[in-house]
Amino acid sequence: MRLHVISSSSEGNAYALEGNGETLLIEAGAPFEGTLKAIGYQVKNIVGCLVTHEHGDHAGRVKELADYCVDVWASPGTVEKIAGKLKPGAARCLRTFRRESGAEVYETFTLGGFEVTPFATQHDSAEPVGYYITHPETGGILFATDTYYLRPTFADLRHVLIECNHDSEKLQANAYGRIHGMTPELAERIRESHLSLQTCISTLKANDLAQVNEIVLIHLSKNNGDPAAFKKAVATATGLPTYIGRPGLTLDFNINPF
Ligand SMILES: [Zn+2]
Repeated sequence: MRLHVISSSSEGNAYALEGNGETLLIEAGAPFEGTLKAIGYQVKNIVGCLVTHEHGDHAGRVKELADYCVDVWASPGTVEKIAGKLKPGAARCLRTFRRESGAEVYETFTLGGFEVTPFATQHDSAEPVGYYITHPETGGILFATDTYYLRPTFADLRHVLIECNHDSEKLQANAYGRIHGMTPELAERIRESHLSLQTCISTLKANDLAQVNEIVLIHLSKNNGDPAAFKKAVATATGLPTYIGRPGLTLDFNINPF
């Protein structure tokens, strides 16, 4: 199994897990052509696309996936928001999953060999989720973005894709220095919807990382983040190989690293 990072920022998000004959897409917020290129145009292998929430940088390209009849999975609240912007024909590709009222974790469902368990995240959108994904080739994968903290912890993790959006101190300094068009109000919104470096590290440490092969940091802020410093801080705090999820990054995502 290989992970492809196609796009990872507030300008657009798209990721692919490409296995033997089956590919799972995550997020539909970047031109679909880039995803197609990354997976060698093997559309027939796509088992579905998981979307975390309705914001354009995560779901703005759903129509392009619908043109290829790719099923797009999201929470009921997210599906409702996305469907409102699609023509009925395209909305037919939308799929959803359920949870018992008030539960943090949704029903597990399968897409090919992937078992997918959505969980609630904390973001300024209708019904945002993250995904815990397992596959015999990969073991447990955590995918969490656009959330200012994560309540659940996860078992049997082998791979982690997690937002590392901003440095709290840098954000504060930018807000009061009016740097990069930042205002205290905007800084507040970011603080209440995105994962800081500091919370990213404490979230990672709250989980059992003994079996984790690598951490991939995603959705970094251009102005309030520092990729080299984030990579170093997370690698030091966890003792694990850490990557910045830059477009074009491809990683071996098998259960054993060798
Ligand atoms: Zn968002």
